[in-house]
Amino acid sequence: MKRDLLLLFLCLCILGAAAYVGRDNVVSAIAASPDEGRVLILDAGHGGEDGGASTASGSRESDINLSIVQKTEALMAFLGVRTELTRMEDRSMHSEGASTIREKKVSDLKNRVAFVGGFSNAMLISVHQNHFTDTRYSGAQVFYNMGDVSRQWGENTQEVLRQVLSPDNDRDAKAIPDGIYLFEHISCPAILVECGFLSNGEEASLLLTDPYQRKISLALAGAYWQELQMIPTVWEGE
Ligand SMILES: [Zn+2]
Repeated sequence: MKRDLLLLFLCLCILGAAAYVGRDNVVSAIAASPDEGRVLILDAGHGGEDGGASTASGSRESDINLSIVQKTEALMAFLGVRTELTRMEDRSMHSEGASTIREKKVSDLKNRVAFVGGFSNAMLISVHQNHFTDTRYSGAQVFYNMGDVSRQWGENTQEVLRQVLSPDNDRDAKAIPDGIYLFEHISCPAILVECGFLSNGEEASLLLTDPYQRKISLALAGAYWQELQMIPTVWEGE
């Protein structure tokens, strides 16, 4: 166990080193401790009746999202980063009164917004899996919310995911498109990570495995850790 933790820490250091230009920066990034007043919210997309996308064999996006979020939570705990999860189990976050699928979806999203809004000095990672009719497409894709912190964090996360998962992935991080309810209604720095395509058989089978999910979690943790060193100690809104 001790050896595993050491290895883990080493991986994070290497991730940090990979994205930093100078050795001095690497040292200061490792030496600095995360701001204790800050909270990282981890949002596993979908849940319960809403499974999101699925693989050809019927594995649900919502389960993969949750599994990656839980692995990321464990890593963050190891690093001493405070995290909060929008959901910890396979359930929708809708309120009791919602009855139709549409009502439940709307209620679920409103409750996620309210959850995120309940924390000051928060940052959010929303974890999803992609799906497209053409099965050729693959590769992680990061979207970022408005503001410089989100953009810088999103671009860095995209780069770390590329290096860790697939160096051939030439996707760039993009501004989140209009119409994503959660992102339109929150004001903290936030990124949405589409970890890969469930419509691509090869990538889907990787996304279902623990080692691949752990790599994604390491990338998310490493990029977040770096971001903490680059933003002001007290974040006052964008
Ligand atoms: Zn999704």
